[in-house]
Amino acid sequence: MDLLIPDKVHDESRQGEALVLEPVGKHNGRKLYIESYGCAMNFSDSEIVASILAEKGFETTSDFKNADVVFINTCSIRENAETRVRNRLKEFAWAKAKNPGMVVGVLGCMAERLKAKFLEEEKLVDVVVGPDAYRDLPNLIEQVDGGQKAVNVLLSREETYADINPVRLNSNGINAFVSIMRGCDNMCSFCVVPFTRGRERSRDAYSVVAECRALFDQGYREVTLLGQNVDSYKWKPLPALSEGEGSDNAVQKVSPIGGDLEEAVNFANLLEMVALVSPDLRVRFSTSHPKDITDEVLETIAKYDNICNYIHLPVQSGNSRILDMMNRTYDREWYMNRVDAIRRIIGDCAISTDIITGFCSETDKEHDDTVTMMDYVKYDYAYMFKYSERPGTLAAKRYADDVPEDVKQRRLTQIVDKQREYSFYRLQARIGKVEKVLIEGLSKKSDKDYCGRSDQNAMVIFPVNENYKPGQYVNVLIERSTSATLMGKIID
Ligand code: SAM
Ligand code: SF4
Repeated sequence: MDLLIPDKVHDESRQGEALVLEPVGKHNGRKLYIESYGCAMNFSDSEIVASILAEKGFETTSDFKNADVVFINTCSIRENAETRVRNRLKEFAWAKAKNPGMVVGVLGCMAERLKAKFLEEEKLVDVVVGPDAYRDLPNLIEQVDGGQKAVNVLLSREETYADINPVRLNSNGINAFVSIMRGCDNMCSFCVVPFTRGRERSRDAYSVVAECRALFDQGYREVTLLGQNVDSYKWKPLPALSEGEGSDNAVQKVSPIGGDLEEAVNFANLLEMVALVSPDLRVRFSTSHPKDITDEVLETIAKYDNICNYIHLPVQSGNSRILDMMNRTYDREWYMNRVDAIRRIIGDCAISTDIITGFCSETDKEHDDTVTMMDYVKYDYAYMFKYSERPGTLAAKRYADDVPEDVKQRRLTQIVDKQREYSFYRLQARIGKVEKVLIEGLSKKSDKDYCGRSDQNAMVIFPVNENYKPGQYVNVLIERSTSATLMGKIID
């Protein structure tokens, strides 16, 4: 099992989820089925895809057997993510046999990685589309209607889909993902993302703020700003832009945080701009990179109550030699220094992480450094993976994947067990405290209980109180916990 504690950014329970939206007026008589795998960015991209096709009159369906167009938005991060997609395609094959006019498309990272090869390998696939080519989907579908296969895997240095208002799919109307950048310029040696998602680019800060404001006006109360490395966000208005020109929001050239926007907006500035939309809008973000997270970002988090005290800070390994081979560009001491800075500047802040076990040539002793890093930080949550060699990555080219599978598994089991203890330890420490919780809805287990998240991202369960509804904040006195959930009662 890769995942210990699910949260909204890496939600195992949402893998393969089909996305359905309300019809938006014109209908072309065709139905779209779209399901997504992988990280939150992919789920967010599916909302962009649905928005582009809704404009062309497609309605969505949650049943692929009734669909005219079936899309699968894929993940390449580990081999098992790709195997899952291949197996799913087999299930679509018989539906296509019954309905030969059905268009089957593969989107996202696997499409980008395999390109036209996908059409040879999987005969039922008609369209292969990379993450920067979604605007081309209506043309590509037309091409298939005309009897051809279609591929567009061009990566872009500019595309951020900033002007596309994503339709919120399967939304609870309370939490939304907002993509603030695309791609990644870090070349972590194990990682396929720079190859599948292209160069890093930041989205127009005003379009981000406008989207968050619109979400707030629609009743949303929490946004999660998404990027592979949010700390390297940087955006500057075009110099030629005069008032009222350019983006819809160009009229707001004066920064909401004071002064003219002559300087580029960095991540700390963007966080502040979004926090200022309303004190009732919670702001979360993911993912932070240890090499780039600055004291300025931490000070901004500390300054605003509505920026949540929760940082996802992937360590990958606690050993400096392995970190160097991974090309993470920080070492064990640097990482610990960033954790110390979080504790010093924000104080009570939850920290989660990603860890890879059994990276090329990792010894037991080096693995122990990861274990002692866990002891040092006492992470609130962790996502833990066995190293999976990805074709084309720097590690695949340079290093042998030489840690035996049983050793990778043993190390993974050890850290999963350890993390369970630390998650429990962190949650137990909240007992007797009062947490501000945003009610998200009824608990999955009982309609007599509400569930919601604390500022620090812990799931909290408490009895329904008729005076409060989903989307409202309540103070909950924490009475007990499991290793994954807090339980308590509302206090006035
Ligand atoms: N950009 C983020 C970062 O730098 O941490 C996360 C990117 S990735 C979608 C999420 C996690 O998958 C990584 O942090 C890493 O732990 C894991 N991962 C990436 N490539 C992997 C591989 N080849 N084998 C095992 N785990 C991998
Ligand atoms: Fe992959 Fe590293 Fe970029 Fe994260 S920062 S997406 S792990 S290359």
